[in-house]
Amino acid sequence: MSTDLATPDSQFYHEEIETLSRKKLEELQLERLRWQVNRCYDGSQFHRDKMDDAGVNPADIRSIEDILQFPITTKQELRDEQAAHPPVGRYSVAPTSHWREVHPSTGTTGAPVYNLWAEEDIGNITDWTARTKWSFGVRPGHVIHNAFSYGLWVAGLASHYAARQLGCFCVPIGATPVERQIEYILNLKPDMILATPSFALYIAEVLSSEGIDPDEISLKFGCFGGEPGAAVGSTRTRIEKGLGISAFDYYGLAEIGPTIASECGEQRGIHWAEDHLLVEVLDEETQMPVEEGTPGVFVISHLTKRATPMIRYWTNDIGILDNSTCRCGRTHARSPGGIIGRADDMIVYRGAKFYPAQVEKALRSFPQVTDEFRIRMTTDSGKGTDICTVVAEYLGENHSEASDLARLRQELGNELQVKPYVEFVPPNSLERTVFKAKRLQDDRENHDG
Ligand SMILES: [Zn+2]
Repeated sequence: MSTDLATPDSQFYHEEIETLSRKKLEELQLERLRWQVNRCYDGSQFHRDKMDDAGVNPADIRSIEDILQFPITTKQELRDEQAAHPPVGRYSVAPTSHWREVHPSTGTTGAPVYNLWAEEDIGNITDWTARTKWSFGVRPGHVIHNAFSYGLWVAGLASHYAARQLGCFCVPIGATPVERQIEYILNLKPDMILATPSFALYIAEVLSSEGIDPDEISLKFGCFGGEPGAAVGSTRTRIEKGLGISAFDYYGLAEIGPTIASECGEQRGIHWAEDHLLVEVLDEETQMPVEEGTPGVFVISHLTKRATPMIRYWTNDIGILDNSTCRCGRTHARSPGGIIGRADDMIVYRGAKFYPAQVEKALRSFPQVTDEFRIRMTTDSGKGTDICTVVAEYLGENHSEASDLARLRQELGNELQVKPYVEFVPPNSLERTVFKAKRLQDDRENHDG
């Protein structure tokens, strides 16, 4: 592959690889998949045991579809493996002398899982992150305000390394208090901001309360990850207006890597780094591939990862895949709408299934409420049934509150196919976050959530 770097006026960072025909891309994926499965089998007892138990071996990979015979890997398996073989399990394929960084999963749902990066991994991650930044307009000389958390979170360092590779001036501010963010934005005049969508909205809210016009500040674009949001039309609009920028969606996870999928300037879904990853979309129940365009769980295999490669990692994240060439000319598959939800966050209420991102979508198109909300699940003690209440901060006049409650309830009903209750609370009464928002509050009886 050519590694010629782009000139500032070129549309692509690595044109050859980004516009490779699907046929050539799939040939490259097959070649890399074979290499990876072989080295996992030879170099890791964890991977070898899994393949032996499933009755498959590396020679079974003759086409990309053959990966379907191989076993799925879950986070719980990695956690169990790590507990049985501390401290990092037996899924590393690189010798310890090649390890450079550890990036644990954030541990919100149990013990953290350690994921390791070797030197080549840092190089690849930096390269694809630089490519994503280029795709929505970052060029050498730009100032990048990196408000992604740096400590033990994959996206902070990856974005930092990529900014450096691109020849940008990086402000490594991390997830520090909002007042400091604003001070640095006003003083150092960044072109671009990186943050979680909820933190970006919080910064926008404080800018507005301080009477600062978003069109007067220097920011031109931003990329937002760590939680769904930037790809939700109404949230995107609020971030774009609130900060006076174009907003793009990022996706990544600790076990696979940061910034593995990102929107291009067309904002038509996150493009996957398919030269480094094999992405499948599987039905949550049957674990078989869904039709192209049908929502399912993303299952990802590493094609180039050296230290802790994953074969068929079950991400629990849900979305769709579109293999058609994007208007931008890139051939790597896209997921329009980004991550629709997490399989874990799915709410089942009165027979309907929905995700917090759908509640967010309905709320953000309703101007009488702020950007913060909660979904509260409780139990009706008389009937023993679930009650779902969406708690939103109300900005309107008191006399129109009753009709706004009814309208918002209707709006939610249209989006979710079921009508939760709605409760209004005063502005600023729900806690804000500098990291990922936790919006589902489960207070049901006999429920450990
Ligand atoms: Zn595109």
